[in-house]
Amino acid sequence: MKKKGSLFIGSYSGIKVYIHWTFLILIGWILMSHFQAGKDLGGALSGVAFILLLFLCVVLHEFGHALTAKRFGIKTHDISLYPIGGIASLEKLPEKPGQELLVALAGPMVNMVIAIFLWIYLTSIGGFPGTEEVNSAEYWQNMPMVNKLFIANITLAVFNLIPAFPMDGGRVLRALLAFKMDRTKATRIAAGIGQGLAVLFVFLGFFYNFMLVFIGLFIYLGAGGEALQETVKNAMSHFIVRDAMMTRFTPVAATDSLDSVSKLVLESQDKVFLVADQTQIHGVLTSNELIKGLSQFGTNASVAQVMRQDYLTLTSSMPLQEAYEKLSLSPCQVAPVVDGQQLLGILDKENIHELLMIRQKLA
Ligand SMILES: [Zn+2]
Repeated sequence: MKKKGSLFIGSYSGIKVYIHWTFLILIGWILMSHFQAGKDLGGALSGVAFILLLFLCVVLHEFGHALTAKRFGIKTHDISLYPIGGIASLEKLPEKPGQELLVALAGPMVNMVIAIFLWIYLTSIGGFPGTEEVNSAEYWQNMPMVNKLFIANITLAVFNLIPAFPMDGGRVLRALLAFKMDRTKATRIAAGIGQGLAVLFVFLGFFYNFMLVFIGLFIYLGAGGEALQETVKNAMSHFIVRDAMMTRFTPVAATDSLDSVSKLVLESQDKVFLVADQTQIHGVLTSNELIKGLSQFGTNASVAQVMRQDYLTLTSSMPLQEAYEKLSLSPCQVAPVVDGQQLLGILDKENIHELLMIRQKLA
């Protein structure tokens, strides 16, 4: 599976690791800033080496989450590295508080373990600075790489344990609360505490360290998103696929030309089409494939040439939440809903959002 804008760099235990192209900007920036500070090529390269090692620690942190989740039967799609950090995309979050607690803690624990090993190493070689060195600016500017990595890993562990979403600490807090109350309430309280902390960070940031302002804003936005996600999930738990599916839709035939489908797009509101005839479903045509097909093969090409066949099939009695999760992972935005052999309708995420919005208005 390819990932947009990202480079595949390897995989372990079935989990692929990707690096986003913007990473190159980070590397370029580091080289530049080293040269600007009057360092030679060796100094600049060691700056890059430090960043690469730092991100290796970030990858190990994410594997901490991913491999712990795997023990509870939860798959991880991939681990992606961005200049601001790494993200392990878990198929879903563990619902049991005990499991969520362990999965959330595993990442920061990896950094603590690395820090302990570095501490043992530094102690054994007498690598820790004396009081005099700690107070000299020159030492901080030319700190040995191992010392830098030691500090970085402790920082990663502590930073991620800030009890606010989207940090690991937010999940730890929710898991602890969820031992005592239901998950939605626990999420609300954890998100509230997180947002309170975020406001405090922004406030303190203006007086002490402007970096805190950014951290605060980052947390503030993340906390809101997590709470919303949980609310939506909770709302969905009352419905099955049949409640949200669309029964009126226009299927296209595999033999239709792309030209005729483009006309359909303009005439109707549909952007994604089910390719089917009376007896069989053949595939799904998304606007992406349609546009790509038009530019590659021209207007006379047939739907069959460009449709996707890796579509998802849903049953009408499937819990809506499960369908939503599956749809989020599917490359096609829409899925046919069937009962045995019979095609009943189609479902996309927009249908689900509409259903939830209408229900909320009614309530
Ligand atoms: Zn983490």
